[in-house]
Formats: sequence, C-alpha cells, structure tokens
Amino acid sequence: MTDIIQLLPDHVANQIAAGEVVQRPASVVKELLENAIDAGASTITLVIKDAGKTLVQVIDDGAGMSTTDARLCFERHATSKIKSAEDLFSLNTKGFRGEALASIAAIAHVELKTKTEASEVGTKIVIEGSQVVSQDAVVTAKGTTISVKNLFYNIPARRNFLKSNTVEMRHIIDEFHRVALAHPQVGFTMMNNGSDVFQLPQSNSRQRIVSIFGAKTNEKLVPVTEETEILKISGFVIKPDFARKSRGEQFFFVNDRFIKSSYLHHAVLAAFEGLIKDGMNPGYFLFLDVDPKSIDINIHPTKTEIKFDDEHAMYAMLRSTIKHSLGQFSIAPVLDFNRDAGFDTPYEYSKKSPVTPTIEVDRSFNPFKKEPSQANIKFPYQREKTSSWESLYVGLKDDDSELQSGFQNIEFESEEVTGKLFEKETEEVGQTTFQLHNKYIVSPIKTGMMIIHQHLAHQRVLYEELLKNITVQEAVSQQLLFPLQFHFSKPDIEILKKIQEQLEQTGFVFSSLKEEAFEISGIPVSIVESSVGTVLEQLIKDIKEEVPDAGFSQNDLLAKSMAKSMAVKTGVPLNREEREHLVNQLFACKEPSVAPNNKTVLITMNVNDFDKKFS
Ligand code: ADP
Ligand code: MG
Repeated sequence: MTDIIQLLPDHVANQIAAGEVVQRPASVVKELLENAIDAGASTITLVIKDAGKTLVQVIDDGAGMSTTDARLCFERHATSKIKSAEDLFSLNTKGFRGEALASIAAIAHVELKTKTEASEVGTKIVIEGSQVVSQDAVVTAKGTTISVKNLFYNIPARRNFLKSNTVEMRHIIDEFHRVALAHPQVGFTMMNNGSDVFQLPQSNSRQRIVSIFGAKTNEKLVPVTEETEILKISGFVIKPDFARKSRGEQFFFVNDRFIKSSYLHHAVLAAFEGLIKDGMNPGYFLFLDVDPKSIDINIHPTKTEIKFDDEHAMYAMLRSTIKHSLGQFSIAPVLDFNRDAGFDTPYEYSKKSPVTPTIEVDRSFNPFKKEPSQANIKFPYQREKTSSWESLYVGLKDDDSELQSGFQNIEFESEEVTGKLFEKETEEVGQTTFQLHNKYIVSPIKTGMMIIHQHLAHQRVLYEELLKNITVQEAVSQQLLFPLQFHFSKPDIEILKKIQEQLEQTGFVFSSLKEEAFEISGIPVSIVESSVGTVLEQLIKDIKEEVPDAGFSQNDLLAKSMAKSMAVKTGVPLNREEREHLVNQLFACKEPSVAPNNKTVLITMNVNDFDKKFS
C-alpha cells in the first residue's frame, strides 16, 4: 500500500486553526486588543465597520515590532511571550500561543503597520490568506496598527454564518467592555462606522465602570476588597436594590483576564442570599488576583473558563468577602454616627467640641489569613485571655437555676474593657448594656438604640471562628485529664470519620475511633466538656439531613452546626462583662448583622422613631 499521510501546508493548517480561534469579528477584536495590552499600550483605538465584517482595526501606542518580528508574528506558534513550557506558570500576558495573528491572516486581508521606539522608520506588511502581498518601510508613529478586512473572505460558509450586524456588534462591544474594564489604566476609544461609541479616558476601576455603564452606576457600587495569602479580591458589587431580572453586568476577572465561572457566580449569589428576590440577578465587577501558578492557564484561546487549584477556598472567600461588604453597607446607617452636631445638644455641651463615639469594626479582619496567635478573633478591645472566658457561654443548659448558681461562682478578670463603644457611654449613662428577658442585649447608641439577639450573635461569633479554624489554621485544644468515651452507631461513626480532619482542626483530638466507639482526649477551647456529646450528635444529625447537593462546603455546615449547639442559649442571663464582650466580638465579625442561618442578629431603633411615638 502506498503511503498516504502528508503534512498539511501551513496556510491550510492556519485556516484550520483559525476555525478555533476566530469564530466571529468579536474574536478578532479580542485578540487584537489583547495584543495591544500585552505590548504595553497606554491608549488603544478600536475602529469597526459593518460590525467588523468589513473592518476591525486596532491602533496602539505600545512597544511596536522590529521588521523581522513584524514578518514573524504571522507565523504559527510565533510568540514573544513564552520561551518554554515553564513560562506558562508565570504568565502575565494575555496571549502566549502565538496563534492569533497567523489564524487571522489566514482568513482575512490584513495590514500591519508597526514601529519601535528605537527605529527611525516603521514596517508595513500586507498579508492575505497567509500570503505576504507586500512589505515596505513606512513612516508611522511608535506602536502598532493592525487592520483586518473582509473577514472570512475565503471561507464563504463561515461568512454566511455570521449573524446580523446588531448581534455581531453586541459581541464586539462585550469583548471591548471586558478588556476595557480589566485595564482602566489604559485609555480606549471605540468607533463604529465613523462615529465614536466609547471614549474611555485613563482612570481607575470605579471611574472606568462609570464611563462605560453611565453616571448613575456610581451610586450603585459597593466596594469589595480582601487580601489573603492566596487571593486578592477587589472590585464592586451592585447594591441589592438594583438587582435586575436580566443577567445584567456580571464580570469576573482573574489576573486581569475576563473569565466565566458558574461556580464563582454561585458564590456571589450565595452572598446575596436573602437580599434579593428569587429570579433577580446581582451585578458585579470582581477582580481576583492569584498566583499564576495556582491556575490552569492552558485554557483554550477562545474559552473563558479557568481552573483554580483550590476552588473551594476561592468560593468561601468570595462569598464571605461580598457578604461582609454588603453587611457593612447595610449596617452603615447604624455605624454612621455623624449626624447634625447642633441637633438637640444640651446647652452646656454645645461649646465643647463633639466627640463622636464609634463602634470600631476591625475591617482588616480576615478569617482566612494565618495569624500567629491562636484562634481568637482579633479585636482592639479584646482582653488577653478570652478563651476561658468564652467557654463560660458554651454548653450551658437552658435550666435557669443551675445557670444562675453557675454564674455566681465565676470570677471575672479584672481588667477593664476599654472599647470606645462603651467607654463614652459608661461615663454618661453609667450602664451601657442591659439584658431584656434573658434574650436580648440592649445598647444605647448615638442614633438611638441597638437590640442584639444574644443566641444569634454568639452563633455568628463562633461560626466565624470555627470556619477560620477549619479552613485555615488549627485551633488550640484543651487536653482532657480523663478522655471522654462515646458509643455511637456504626453509620454515625462513619460520618465522624469523614469529618475527622475538620473536627481536629477545630481542636478535637481523637485518641481512638473504632467501629462503634471512640475516645476523645482533647477538645476545642470554646467548648465545655459536658456538651461535647450533644454537639457531636447534633452535628451528625445535621450532616445526615443535609440536602445532598446543597452546594458548597461541608466545612460551612460543620461550623454552622457546631456554632448553633455551642452558642449561648436564649434564657441565659449574661452579666455586664459577658454582654460587652459578646458585643465586641460580634462587631469584630465579618458579618455582624446576620446569623449563619441568615437570621437577623441585631436591629436598631432611631430616636426619631421614638419621637414620633410621643407626639
Ligand atoms: P501571542 O499573543 O499569543 O504571542 P499573536 O499571534 O497574538 O500571539 O502575536 C504574535 C506576536 O506578535 C506576539 O507575541 C507579539 O510579539 C507580536 N505582536 C502582536 N501584536 C502586537 C502589537 N500590537 N504590538 C507589538 N507586538 C505585537
Ligand atoms: Mg495574541
């Protein structure tokens, strides 16, 4: 039999590759804009005719190319961006495959004009269907202009397949937005059929969003920021009030590259849970920065999916950061004590410069950051030894008499809680907080008063602490003098085995875990010995009842369940120090205003509301 295999000629190979890289004019727009960004341009102009079917032109003031490079850039696998496969792991450019220009030149009439800073004259190359038609020296400014005309001129089937100009233009604008949003420091202009569509000056991220989506957007944006060792998050979400029926503006960028991720999208939805109605869509512009090593960059040129090493952590951080931002936003009126200073100030005080009491939330608190100290949430007013103190809350039964007596015997550490929230009030009011029906902590604040649900508040505090321990750092555990022994059913022990690792992160030490019995020799500091059994039983029950695909993480479930059974119950009297400590811990939380089960932790009432009642 004769040999039948032969190598495809380059122009055929390029055409085939083009089928993947270039699906429509918008793909050309994306590739050319990205090349201009990679070339370090500070201003980029995009010129479109007939929705890109006749012309896509990109003019940049970037580095430009030498004559040799100008010729080489149309070769397949010609790239200046990587030299070896290792470079893929430290990639900071958009392109790296060296395929785009070769592909585009295979299926269109392309004209390139380019000049570097160093050279006197530039180079102009005309290439059609992979054939170089001409190459000349030209006078041109530093930078590169690429014009792509008559796309798919030699593949009529593809050309006929293109959609209406309106649809193709929509795709082009989408690509333009994605690149422009990711690079606010670059100025962009976009022209369509001779008229300006966008004029985007060099700016910051917020201004860029506003210049693209209109001045009204500004007031809708809630900033989101977080920085941990593995992930930096910045950007904005749109206030829940402005959620839309249609999908609207939803943008994720990873290392300045637009990506789609239904998983991360779900994290955003989860953060908005309870804040927007079902079927409404939140808007967001979120920029994630990760170590290029931790993502699989070997993505298909036209695909926008991405793979992270640790998706679960990303999910948790994203959700929690956004919730935190939204929480701050919705709690803002409570914490914003700046009101009219002249308003009902007693005469003798009116000359004094006003001292505004503030609740200081540690906004830099980050449950994912490793802290050298132990598990306790850092808070400026927190006393040194909180763990023993913390355990006073936990595991107390609802039986009042037992509790009362229990509390009488407790001695508190003597140092003052010096939180500003209370300091000021203490001087003036004498008593800062009081307890209502052994259920609510009531605290006067400048605008009126705040009512905090003690059980839900403590759940929030414990939940964040547990989650932090489970996901990031191991908690300290208290060694038991006499190990605790338990007998559980086989299936229950199976469940325990599955979560053993997480439980150990919270501070449990299993000295043995057999088929139907186990022994614990260490427990988390924030739990009392007598309640260990109940907490574990409840946890197993919650895991059994978990909706199978409820989505995200077992860690979350674990933290929720344990926080719930460990939190101080309704009906438990709290003394002043306990109340204040709880309030302080609550405000050190990422989301003080909602419990892990999404219930409201605190409400505020305004003096004005009282005034109305007395009129
Ligand atoms: P890739 O971007 O994957 O490297 P391309 O085919 O898009 O592949 O581009 C090939 C090469 O041409 C790039 O690596 C770069 O060196 C050069 N190049 C392309 N566009 C520009 C531009 N606008 N300015 C300067 N150099 C460019
Ligand atoms: Mg490229």
